[in-house]
Amino acid sequence: TSSTGYTGRFAPSPTGPLHLGSLVAAMASYLDARAHQGRWLLRIEDLDFDRNVADADRHILHSLQRCGMHWDGEVSWQSQRQPLYEQALEQLATQVYPCSCSRKEIADSRLRAGVAASQVYPGTCRTGLAPGKTARAWRLRVPDGEAAVFQFEDRLLGAQTQDLASEVGDFVLKRADGFWAYQLAVVVDDAAQGISHVVRGADLLDSTARQCYLQQLLGLPRPAYLHVPVVNNADGEKLSKQTGALAFDRGDNDLLQDALLPAARFLGLHISPSANNLNAFWDNATAAWAQQIALHQAHQADQLHQQQKQQ
Ligand code: GLU
Repeated sequence: TSSTGYTGRFAPSPTGPLHLGSLVAAMASYLDARAHQGRWLLRIEDLDFDRNVADADRHILHSLQRCGMHWDGEVSWQSQRQPLYEQALEQLATQVYPCSCSRKEIADSRLRAGVAASQVYPGTCRTGLAPGKTARAWRLRVPDGEAAVFQFEDRLLGAQTQDLASEVGDFVLKRADGFWAYQLAVVVDDAAQGISHVVRGADLLDSTARQCYLQQLLGLPRPAYLHVPVVNNADGEKLSKQTGALAFDRGDNDLLQDALLPAARFLGLHISPSANNLNAFWDNATAAWAQQIALHQAHQADQLHQQQKQQ
């Protein structure tokens, strides 16, 4: 950790080169760490061996360097940390059960229950595998009743609540393909790396309660969370490789004009036109981010004050 006690991180999955949407998440976490004079770590989340693209990690590191985004310490690769996830799974043994359900079986059971649209696992294997079935995945039992309701404060979006029982259900920690689930690995690594502040895209807001639950079970501290808006394409879909998002770094293009300024603009940061080189851009953007966060906090404190006066 740094002298200020702040440690942040950017945790891309190496499924392809970074696009503008991933740059927005990287920039927000980098600026927040800089604004707090903290450390900023880089972790490659390469646990889904089917989705990893050869050399994408190298390309990501290179693009961040070209942008002038310098990480602290050594880069970590989740594929090299699997014994840690195994240990965590063992620690959770009494709350974890084997599940034999295929996607189709889960969908069929939802249809029978008349909840086809639900994302919630119907709990088929909760009380044991049916005779003749073998374990495919490992699921974590979520609590019932009040204990299933998780609350956390997002630094940007304010108070968030999710009922894990009715909105998520028992979730997978080790997948049927043998790969570690993102939810488990991210919690283990954020704690092991001393991450105090998580800043990432709002597409992961829905995962945060699950991560808080895992932290609680494993006796790990809960970091502060901030989720930034996701960038959508013209069809309103989240930018991703699947929706054909372009790499922002095409080797010889002007990253300040093509990528950094648009990403900063997306985050609502006003960058002085005189910031025409990378150093000036980052100094300017850091000050703008710090100011935006301070304004936001003052606004939230003011709202809370007004609410208290009305009660
Ligand atoms: N690896 C995840 C992704 O690329 C991000 C994980 C996180 O920031 O918690 O979407």
